[in-house]
Amino acid sequence: MQENKKILLATSNQGKIKEFKKIFSNFHLISQDELGITEPIEDGLTFIENALIKARNGANKSGVYTIADDSGIVVPALDFAPGIYSARYAGKNASDLDNRNKIISELKKHNLTSSHAYYVCVLVGVHSKDDPMPIVASGEIHGEISIESSGEGGFGYDKIFYPSGYSFSMATMDPEEKNKISHRAIAANLFLKQLENLKSN
Ligand code: IMP
Repeated sequence: MQENKKILLATSNQGKIKEFKKIFSNFHLISQDELGITEPIEDGLTFIENALIKARNGANKSGVYTIADDSGIVVPALDFAPGIYSARYAGKNASDLDNRNKIISELKKHNLTSSHAYYVCVLVGVHSKDDPMPIVASGEIHGEISIESSGEGGFGYDKIFYPSGYSFSMATMDPEEKNKISHRAIAANLFLKQLENLKSN
């Protein structure tokens, strides 16, 4: 696909927009807020279904190539929660702090001070809502979720997520470093390879 081509990023999450704009710097990425497109109801049961729902909605309303991601954190010891419900773990309009507090209280209920966890990102791209051949890429980053918060950066669960191989939380990590190792970066780099191979239209 041509560099500088206009691509819609079907999300309203400012944290994600910031990270994706850096990764997709060769393309002209616009967010759905800039076009007044609202989020669809995410009623899929998997990351990939929800990513497709968001991408199809964006492509349908904008008419341009649209990428969307669905992401979250998975804690095997908590029956793989919160998973696709990460953004609304503590309720419909829950803040990041509410969601972190909920996971901390669940860990405590299980007598855990920390546990293995991983972030997942599934990224899809569609030409239209009926595109039968979406690009699909996914990435994971593993580490520990802890009842101890630290750091001031990032968003979501970053203050309580300690990536493997690092002695500090994701919220303490330099944003450039996060953009190199994150689940989103892994998925985006795999996605980019496929996007660059697409014939321009
Ligand atoms: P989505 O917008 O439905 O994909 O929800 C993703 C949710 O997962 C976010 O609102 C965060 O709570 C969490 N999440 C995903 N990626 C990250 C990350 O890189 N850091 C922290 N939390 C994340």
